[in-house]
Amino acid sequence: MYNAFLIKYAEIGTKGKNRYIFENALKDHIKNNLKDLGDYLVTKEQGRIYVECPDGYDYEETVEAIKCVFGVAQICPVEIIDTIEWEPLTKAVGDYVEAQYPDRNFTFKMEAKRSDKKYPMTSPEICVEMGAYLLKRFPELKVDVHNPSVRIMVEVRNKSYVYSEIIPGPGGMPVGTNGKAMLLLSGGIDSPVAGYMIAKRGVTIDAVYFHAPPYTSERAKQKVVDLAKLISKYTGPIRLNIINFTDIQLYIYEKCPHEELTIIMRRYMMRIAEKIALDSGCLGLITGESIGQVASQTLHSLASTNEVCTLPVYRPLIAFDKQDIVDISEKINTYETSILPFEDCCTIFVAKHPVTKPNLKVIRHSERSLEEKIEEMVQVALDSKEVVMVM
Ligand code: ATP
Ligand code: MG
Repeated sequence: MYNAFLIKYAEIGTKGKNRYIFENALKDHIKNNLKDLGDYLVTKEQGRIYVECPDGYDYEETVEAIKCVFGVAQICPVEIIDTIEWEPLTKAVGDYVEAQYPDRNFTFKMEAKRSDKKYPMTSPEICVEMGAYLLKRFPELKVDVHNPSVRIMVEVRNKSYVYSEIIPGPGGMPVGTNGKAMLLLSGGIDSPVAGYMIAKRGVTIDAVYFHAPPYTSERAKQKVVDLAKLISKYTGPIRLNIINFTDIQLYIYEKCPHEELTIIMRRYMMRIAEKIALDSGCLGLITGESIGQVASQTLHSLASTNEVCTLPVYRPLIAFDKQDIVDISEKINTYETSILPFEDCCTIFVAKHPVTKPNLKVIRHSERSLEEKIEEMVQVALDSKEVVMVM
C-alpha cells in the first residue's frame, strides 16, 4: 500500500556546508541501485530523500536494493497523501491506520512536522487533533506518549506524508565521498569483508587479484570476479586488476628459503598492489589481515609485509575473530562463494613450517638473491595485467 519511501540518514547530517555533496551522492546511489527495478522518482528536499515508487513495484526487492546503499540510516515506507487540507488529511491518516493495522489493540503516539510555518496548525496541535480523531474512529487504540508500541508520523509539506514503520539501513557514508583505495582481493572469506567495511565509510574500491596459472585455475579467478560482483552491490562498480604472479612466485620458490616464501610473496604482492594503486589515484591499500590468524599475520609478519609500502594499509579486520568475520560475510552474502574449494595462489606454495617471526634483516637478505631479475619480472607482470570492470 505504500507508494514511497522516506530515506533518513545519520552521519551525513553533521557535514555542515559540504552536506550537499553527501546528499547528492546518496541520492545518486539510491537511483542507481533501483534503476533495473523500475521507474522510481528519487528526490531530495529539505534534508530528506524521497523515493516515489512506480505502480505495481515489488516492495521487498525495493527495500533490499535501498538496504545496500551506504549512508542510509533508516528506510521508512510512507504513504503520500495528495493534500494538506485538514479534513481529507485526517481521513487519509485514519484509512492508513485501518489498512496497516487490522488489529488495533496497541498504544500509539502521534508525531507531526510541518514545513510551512504558515500552516494554520502548529505541530503540537496537529498531534493533539489527529490523535483525538484516531481515538474517536478506533476506540481500541490507546495513547502512550512515553513508550508507545507504534509511532504514527505525519509530515505536512506541499503534500502530506504518513508513516509508522522504520527499517534499519546499513549506515555508513555514501561511496565516493571519501577517496579511493586498492583492495587486495583473494578468493578467501576475509578480503571481501574488508572491502565492504572500508567502502562503508564512503571509500571507492579498486581491487587487485594475484593469480598463478596453471597452479591456480580459471575457476579460482572466476570466484574472485564473483566475489567482487557480490560486494559491488554495496561498493558500486569495481575496477579489478588481475596480475599474473606465476613467474614471480616460481622465481621466489627457486631462490629463497622455503619457510620464508609466504612472507616474501606477500611483500611482492604489496609492492605490486602499491604500484597499481599509485597509478590509479588510490590513497591506500586494503587487506583482510587479522592478527594471528595464520603464520603470515603475526605481528612480526605484518611488520614485515608492511615495510615495503609507503601508502597507508587499511586492515579493518585486524582485531576481529574469525567467527565475527564469517558473520559479516554471511550477512553480505559472500560466504558461500568464499568457501568454494578452488586454490588461491598462496595455498600451493606454502611451506610446511613457515616462519612465524620473520626477522626483517633475514628477509631483506633473502630478497637480495632475487635482485637479478625481479624488477623486470614485476614490470612484466604490471604490463600484462588484465582489467575487468565488475558491476
Ligand atoms: P582471505 O580470506 O582474504 O583470503 P586469508 O586469511 O587467506 O585472507 P592470507 O592468505 O594471509 O589470508 O592473505 C592476507 C590478505 O592478503 C588477504 O586478506 C588479501 O587481502 C591479501 N591476499 C592474499 N592472497 C591474495 C591474492 N591471491 N590476491 C590478492 N590479494 C591477496
Ligand atoms: Mg586467502
